Amino acid sequence: MAIVTGSHSAVGATAEPWCQQMKTAVRSSEELLRLLDLPPLCDERLESAVASFPVFVPRNFLAKMKQGDPSDPLLKQVLPSPAETEPFIGFQADPVGDTSAQLEPFLLKKYHGRTLLITTGACAIHCRYCFRRHYPYHEATGQGDALLQAVERIREDDSIDEVILSGGDPLTLVDSRIEEIYQSLARISHVRRLRIHTRLPIVIPERVTHLLRDILVKTRLKTVFVVHVNHPRELTGGVGPALQSIASLGVPVLNQSVLLSEVNDSIDTLSQLSLKLIDYSVMPYYLHQLDRVQGSHHFEVARSRGLKLIEGLRKQLPGYAVPRYVCEEPGAAHKTPIG
Ligand SMILES: *Cc1c(COP(=O)(O)O)cnc(C)c1O
Ligand code: SF4
Repeated sequence: MAIVTGSHSAVGATAEPWCQQMKTAVRSSEELLRLLDLPPLCDERLESAVASFPVFVPRNFLAKMKQGDPSDPLLKQVLPSPAETEPFIGFQADPVGDTSAQLEPFLLKKYHGRTLLITTGACAIHCRYCFRRHYPYHEATGQGDALLQAVERIREDDSIDEVILSGGDPLTLVDSRIEEIYQSLARISHVRRLRIHTRLPIVIPERVTHLLRDILVKTRLKTVFVVHVNHPRELTGGVGPALQSIASLGVPVLNQSVLLSEVNDSIDTLSQLSLKLIDYSVMPYYLHQLDRVQGSHHFEVARSRGLKLIEGLRKQLPGYAVPRYVCEEPGAAHKTPIG
């Protein structure tokens, strides 16, 4: 993941409020801790943790954290830890086999009918547990000819009826760019659905612009919108209504979460999350077991505990509010259910 750079990125491209939020994001642990009234972290290992994956936290998201609380579950997701630099058996750079699933430099195909297009390496927040934190984006960014090449590949393969825009985060691209991508995919007759995997409206709800909402529906393609929320507090501050405004267009909105130690590994937190999502017409979709990416072992929750959490959710929630607990196994034909 890179901090936003490049010709198709948002920063500097327009004066939209969401672009301003990207520009003013907090980019260092020191500043993050200072703004939260917390003492600085003094550990030389942190420098290497952030060297390849810097801190990036928009102020909207920061505003939802509790002042003076080092265990805040939102802070935990973005604050680098010295534990990231410790090698840990079983944790590797590419835990999900992304590099071997490449059709083109930034087109991945693992599952029947669906292909995943990496449109950019940029994100609007840097999540320390990210499974793509070591992905070689510099070799594969969705710009110019490389994107055309991927679109050509999709055209040649009529088994593909769904294209997933991923990244990075595809919504770091400006609306005109998203529209171009929609238009080129809509011209391929076997493509029926376009799915957007994004965390952007969670961090910067202003990203849900009128133009974006128009783009999602003024097309022959059926849009499916998949967001990433881990904790119920992430839905405050205008996020819920922004998601509701997408659902009200008739676009299915789904959520995926990652099960994270000390962030959402309790029945109470997961249950509140599901219920709040439903309030805003967002359906819980997946609860992912952490992908074992190098530097993320301190976030891992044992599967036995995950299963207990799911069982607890089943006992208190309607069936539709219980997410599917899954993991990703390299080479498997689908996400693998746990339990
Ligand atoms: C997760 C993933 C998908 C989507 O899988 P669904 O189960 O349909 O949500 C598609 N392609 C790749 C490469 C993936 O990792
Ligand atoms: S989890 Fe998603 S939003 Fe977070 S850094 Fe990874 S790709 Fe970006």
